[in-house]
Amino acid sequence: MSELVSKLPGIGTTIFTTMSQMAADYDAINLSQGYPDFSVPQPLLDLFTKYLNEGYNQYPPMAGVPYLRQQIASKTRQLYGADIDMDAEVTVTSGATEALFVALQAIVHPDDEAIVFDPAYDSYDPAVTLAGGRTIHLPLRDDFSIDWNRVEAAITARTRVIVLNSPHNPTGSVLTETDLDALTTLIENRDIYLVSDEVYEHMIYDNKRHQSLLTREPLRSRAFVISSFGKPYHATGWKVAYCIAPPYLTNEFRKVHQFVTFTTHTPTQWALAEYMEMCPEHYLNLPDFYQQKRDLFVDLLRASHFNVTASAGTYFQLADYSRISDSTDIEFVTYLTQQIGVAAIPISVFYEVPPSLKVIRFCFAKDDQTLREACGKLAALNSI
Ligand code: PMP
Ligand code: GLN
Repeated sequence: MSELVSKLPGIGTTIFTTMSQMAADYDAINLSQGYPDFSVPQPLLDLFTKYLNEGYNQYPPMAGVPYLRQQIASKTRQLYGADIDMDAEVTVTSGATEALFVALQAIVHPDDEAIVFDPAYDSYDPAVTLAGGRTIHLPLRDDFSIDWNRVEAAITARTRVIVLNSPHNPTGSVLTETDLDALTTLIENRDIYLVSDEVYEHMIYDNKRHQSLLTREPLRSRAFVISSFGKPYHATGWKVAYCIAPPYLTNEFRKVHQFVTFTTHTPTQWALAEYMEMCPEHYLNLPDFYQQKRDLFVDLLRASHFNVTASAGTYFQLADYSRISDSTDIEFVTYLTQQIGVAAIPISVFYEVPPSLKVIRFCFAKDDQTLREACGKLAALNSI
């Protein structure tokens, strides 16, 4: 047989898998991969076992359990003022990863271009490549905001989609109303679709409001808006998420979804639906819950030689280590994990052309005690 030609030749194992494995191997505190080290709310766990034991264990409808789609539509109406048709516009997926993949397969044709902003979450580019498209990587500005003039200059006749992510992983920046204005003007009279990764919609701080694409008709009418239950319910391993898109896009989305996973774990969907109805305070209180953790983590880090600007959203915090070391971010996180006992994520891996930043990402979705212990180790770091 001739040698297999890889469809993703430049891709290795993800940085999240790599760093979590290194954290485990060296018994380091794992602030690398984004996941909480505290429990799913007990009432939600109880609902899950209730539905499991009551026999909700066969295929649910392909689009998702109606009760859950109803709760999603109702939350979306309350938070973003958007009237969503739960039957024609909401699809439950097995994680946001699936939703992002499916949305991009549904609209990217061979040789189409997809614009992403670097540093970009790692799943966007391979999904575009597998659809036969080309990813156009545009760097964010130094403050991690979008340079809309640069976006306009990058648009060609082949531009099919712009992928947005707010609150943004890995930087913690958020889109503003001015950004949505600029985006609205940009796509007017152009055949461009939008994929909006809003998985951190409930983690936004300092009294800012999440600027969902669902709040504006001209944007929502051509967007796949994706969110995940893994983040707000401290359940990243459950892999239940959803995509909201207008009927003509949802129709294409479901054609692909039904051949990727077809459906998503049944009892989890029922439990999430009942918990959403029973306890909307859970996601409404999340900004306060996480802002306390961000503040604690930032205060503790300020006692070290890292430089930090507090994150505006997500459960990630960037930290500049240029006062500590001249090494590359990959070398630095390796040293931190293996020698200091705290794992982090290098951000150069999220760029097509990495800038010469000395910045790494920490996840602060951890018990206060874990954060204190990690920062104790980080504070002891002088120049190396
Ligand atoms: N988008 C972003 C920006 C993420 O950080 C993540 C992961 N945590 C995902 C998508 C994937 O979410 P899920 O675990 O629901 O697949
Ligand atoms: N989104 C998570 C992070 O940014 C990781 C998800 C994954 O491991 N694929 O850390």
